[in-house]
Formats: sequence, structure tokens, C-alpha cells
Amino acid sequence: MEAWRDNIRKVVPYTPGEQPKDLDVIKLNTNENPYGPSKKVESVVSDPDSLRLYPDPAASDLVTAIAEYHGVDPAQVFVGVGSDDVLAMSFMTFFNSNKPILFPDITYSFYDVWADLFRIPYETPALTKDFRIDPADYRRPNGGIVFPNPNAPTGICESVEFVEDIVKDNPDSIVIIDEAYIDFGGETVLPLIDKYDNLVVTRTFSKSRAMAGLRIGYAISNKTLIKALNDVKYSFNSYTMNRPSIMLGIESIKDDEYFKETIGKIINTRERFVNEIEKLGFTCPKSSANFVFATHKSIPAKEIFDEARKNNIYFRYFNKPRIDNYLRISIGTDDEMDKCIEFLKSLV
Ligand code: PMP
Repeated sequence: MEAWRDNIRKVVPYTPGEQPKDLDVIKLNTNENPYGPSKKVESVVSDPDSLRLYPDPAASDLVTAIAEYHGVDPAQVFVGVGSDDVLAMSFMTFFNSNKPILFPDITYSFYDVWADLFRIPYETPALTKDFRIDPADYRRPNGGIVFPNPNAPTGICESVEFVEDIVKDNPDSIVIIDEAYIDFGGETVLPLIDKYDNLVVTRTFSKSRAMAGLRIGYAISNKTLIKALNDVKYSFNSYTMNRPSIMLGIESIKDDEYFKETIGKIINTRERFVNEIEKLGFTCPKSSANFVFATHKSIPAKEIFDEARKNNIYFRYFNKPRIDNYLRISIGTDDEMDKCIEFLKSLV
């Protein structure tokens, strides 16, 4: 065998949710927002000629718009190609200890992939029986901590005080709180960045801003950690954000009214949907996200998943220990969720 075969980096990649070519399905499998982005985004006519030029490598206008929105200094904002890019850069930048990083056993399934890719040792303390994080698990030597709040795929959000205790108890580690779903009902830990120098908060335009297709994510922290992130990014690829994404992202940030209106709709639909499926024998932890994590008292989740797919309704199913009898169901429009309820009724 040629020696080079041993020198290829071998990784088990993340499996993204299915993206069916047929758009005529009820797509509740990747937590997209059914309402589409702000109309202001549509009104931006991009200047095609400008596309011959490289974009601003710092995406300064977008960074400034995000900073103003959150009331922080632009030097406290890092943008990337979706929060996946921001998180990957953060793993590379902040998790360089020999001690294991910590994240829950049930969480966003990209974390272990990045850890393996970057050869970061990790441990995955088990969530409790009711899928809560046990803070005692995060009081041991570690090389960093990361978890989503609300957690995915459970939708459960922990309180600011809960997160603060973990940040406070780990002054020698960077703690990354992935707030991909925070706009759907959780309380952000952003105010803590002024109080602790080891906290990084990541966000995305893919869910609450309905722009998954544009790929915009960001991190907010103190200037030192944001500079460290930028140094790594510029050592990898300077021009990560394309011109249209920068422009359209700014327009989305400007339209706060539309943003709040659509989030309100999704929260109302979620509550109604949960109510209806509980009547059918489903249970789910209290969700603060744009999805619910549902299990049925008698019908196996995989069976529901397969049957739904045959009916052009896409859910997300994880064939993993402890969660293999659950379905993650994204919240679509009222009409989509009504069809989904009808389908579940017919099945039950
Ligand atoms: N964090 C969590 C918890 C997620 O579920 C997702 C969506 N797959 C992401 C980050 C990444 O989203 P994006 O790259 O679209 O910003």
C-alpha cells in the first residue's frame, strides 16, 4: 500500500437534512423559515457589474449593521458563511488545548464532526432523562465548552443564569453558546459578553431571518476574541462572504418589523401545533425553537417518518441512541402544519 494513503485526513462527514429537488413538498426537516425574507431584501437590485470585483473581505457594512442592531462595537462582530462557518472557525481558533472540549451527547450533530476534523479531543456528558443539561458535568477540567441554547434537536432553552454559572465556573476555557434558534422564545446571553471575557455567542440568518440560502452567520464577543477569529479566517480564505449576501443581509437587519411579525407567527403556529399533536398521543419537550421534538406513545418514529415521506411531508429523523424514537418537526406555515396534523391524524 502506498504510504500516502495513511496521510489522507479521514473524516465521517456531517449528514445534512435532505434537500428534495421537488419543491412541491411540505418541507419540515431543516428548520427553514416558511415566510421568506423581508420584502426589503427583494427590493435590493444588485449591480451585476459589481460582481466582477472581490467583496469587502471584512464585510464591514454588514458587520456595522449587525453591531448597531445589537448595540455593540463593530470590532465585537465576526461574520461568516452561515453559522456553520463561524462555528468551524471558532473550533479552530479557540479549542487548541490537550484537554477535551465538552458538549452534550444529544446536540447539534456537527460539533463532533468539527472536533474530529480538527483533531480536538472531546467528551459528551449525557443530558438528563428529560433532555436537560446537568451543569455539574461542566465543572471539570476541559479545553472549551459549546452547546446550542435552545438546544437542538430538543428545542429546550436554559436560562441566562444557568448559562452564566457555566461561563463563570470555567474562566480558563472559551464557552461558545450557539444561539441559532434564540429568536423563537429564548432569552439571549449576549449581555454577558461585557461581564465575561471567555464567552462567544453565535447567531444565524438562516432561521429567524429566513435566509438559509444566502449563508450568513455571525459571532459576538469581546474585541480580543473577535480579532483572534479574524486572524484565523484571514489565514484560510479572505473573501468568504459574497457581495449579494453582504447587501441582502443589511436589508434584512433593517426590517425589524417584518422580522418580529414572522417570528410571532411561527411561535403561535408552534403552540397550536403542539396542542393538536398532544391530542393525538404525541409528547414533546417545551420548545423555544422553530421546531418541535416529538415522540408518539405507540407508533415508532421511524415508521411515521417513512410514511410521512411517502406523503410528501419531510421530517428529520436521527437514528441515534436515546433519540431514535423522536422526530424533529420544523414549524411551517399554518396551512402546512394543518396538512401535517391531518396526516398524523390519519396515521394515528
Ligand atoms: N447551529 C445549530 C444548532 C443548527 O441547528 C444549525 C443548522 N443546521 C446551525 C448552527 C448552522 O446553521 P447555518 O450554517 O445555516 O447558520
